[in-house]
Amino acid sequence: MTIEYLTLQPSGDKMPLVGFGCWKVDPKDAPETIYNAIKTGYRLIDSAANYKNEEGIGKGIQMAIKDGLVRRQDLFVTTKLWSTYHKKEHVRKALEKQLEQLQLDYVDMFLVHFPLPLKYVPIEAKYPPGWYQPGEDVITLDRAPMHECWAAIEDCVRAGLTRNIGVSNFNVQLLMDMLTYANIRPSLLQVELHPYLQQEHLVRWAQQQGIAVTAYSSFGPTSFVSTGSRRAKNVQPLFENPTIMDIAAKYNRQPSEVALRWSLERNVAVVPKSLNVDRMKMNLQALDWKMDEEDVQAINGLDMGLRFNDPMVNAQKLPIFY
Ligand code: NAD
Repeated sequence: MTIEYLTLQPSGDKMPLVGFGCWKVDPKDAPETIYNAIKTGYRLIDSAANYKNEEGIGKGIQMAIKDGLVRRQDLFVTTKLWSTYHKKEHVRKALEKQLEQLQLDYVDMFLVHFPLPLKYVPIEAKYPPGWYQPGEDVITLDRAPMHECWAAIEDCVRAGLTRNIGVSNFNVQLLMDMLTYANIRPSLLQVELHPYLQQEHLVRWAQQQGIAVTAYSSFGPTSFVSTGSRRAKNVQPLFENPTIMDIAAKYNRQPSEVALRWSLERNVAVVPKSLNVDRMKMNLQALDWKMDEEDVQAINGLDMGLRFNDPMVNAQKLPIFY
């Protein structure tokens, strides 16, 4: 199996095109899951403080290194700054806590998880704190401007705590603004992308700026049925979409493979998540084949602008994408 990469600017680091996503991996399953993912051939692990499983991910990475499956320098570990740590004085402390949990000296990519500053919760009070203040169930915003947060993130690069930095859930306006003040430009944009939410202008514009793009939730509604999302339950499952099924049949592939390959055809990296080793293998095989342009075009026709990871329709009732 060939591992294909995107070359990141400005570091020149190579980021694997297919990585392993860690959202909703139960903390107790995390060590074995990560170990299995690395054994299967994944070299990129996509993590976040808010996934509440970084301690287990760290254990899995260490087990794999100890067993000689991989060396640290062969892994690309991505993690994300949670929204309660946007104030400039909290950024580095948050990353240091994450590194401690991951049992790493540095990560390869540190992303701003959401362009959304939530009121600080001290690490000693609750970690990770989630969306709310402890004991509350309403969102409290904080005065933490992104340009100050970003400057503190840049300092983490200078301190050797992360090799690359980027953003997640940003739109073009926010990125344009960031490019006016960034001393170190974001090298990666991670956003929700799948055939039902294609965000063509955002993807193309970011790539034109030299910002690599990663798709999250490549299987569209699949990941959100278990979160109780009505949008996910009411739409035709991506894997049952006739266009996706026809293309899968044409290449003798599964619909999941079609969804991942379509992303790679746009030069967009993917981070599928599965606990099942056979599916882990199948998802990595997105690297092993090509899709004809006519099939890419047919999938391009499925766009509905349908976003599933939307804090407005989820419990938070926050219209950040509007
Ligand atoms: P996903 O699109 O990877 O789908 C996961 C679901 O698909 C699971 O239910 C899994 O059982 C199923 N699945 C996996 N492989 C399959 C296969 N081959 N055939 C059939 N079913 C299969 O969902 P996701 O976890 O939402 O997204 C992937 C990763 O993206 C996350 O784990 C996380 O790392 C990242 N992410 C980031 C953000 C962000 O805000 N930056 C948000 C969501 C997800």
